[in-house]
Amino acid sequence: MITTALVSAWIARFGEIIEDRADYLTKLDSPIGDADHGANMLRGMTAAVPAAENAPTIDAQLKAVGMAMLSKVGGTSGPLYGTLFLKAAMTLGQRAEVAPSEFAAALRTGADALAFRGKAEPGDKTMVDALAPAVAALESHVAEDFAAAAEAAHRAADEGRAATTDMVARKGRASYLGERSVGHTDPGATSATYLFQALAEVSR
Ligand code: ADP
Ligand code: MG
Ligand code: MG
Repeated sequence: MITTALVSAWIARFGEIIEDRADYLTKLDSPIGDADHGANMLRGMTAAVPAAENAPTIDAQLKAVGMAMLSKVGGTSGPLYGTLFLKAAMTLGQRAEVAPSEFAAALRTGADALAFRGKAEPGDKTMVDALAPAVAALESHVAEDFAAAAEAAHRAADEGRAATTDMVARKGRASYLGERSVGHTDPGATSATYLFQALAEVSR
């Protein structure tokens, strides 16, 4: 089962990775954005980690992360990550344990809602390019073993992240550059990959 302890560990590990990589995320956001993605994510996760730790049920934990992202992140990524977590939370009842398949389905709902809100499709060079394949991999392997599914999700996210380098941006600030966005990896796809890296690490 997925427990509140696992969700706390997941969000805490994601926060640690964001702290480690904040400068790198901001560096990725320099040539094709406004050089703030690392700072944005760090501000959000600094609030999200203790909020998730103190919430009593999984839906409350996910909601707390979503609210932190929504209220603390200045950039576009705040409402998008906020939507991911808030919509995922809304699919779950007030429980301290959920089945792995329910957890995967919740993330699917959240990722779909994020893509809808951003009007982004795979191939637009956004975080959706990492999130969509990650959630698909999680869903397709979740019946076997959650640790293996989380590992597969991380691999899929990372492949999606790497593929953004050669894409022309069609959404967000990077889209203002058109063809000149090619050759730069999307910062949001990179932070989204860390979300699944963290899930894989704490699920081992
Ligand atoms: P801002 O661009 O407002 O400064 P951030 O730098 O924190 O916000 O986040 C930028 C990231 O947000 C991009 O790298 C991209 O992955 C993601 N993003 C931007 N616009 C969209 C969108 N419409 N749909 C999905 N993701 C988006
Ligand atoms: Mg930015
Ligand atoms: Mg900004």
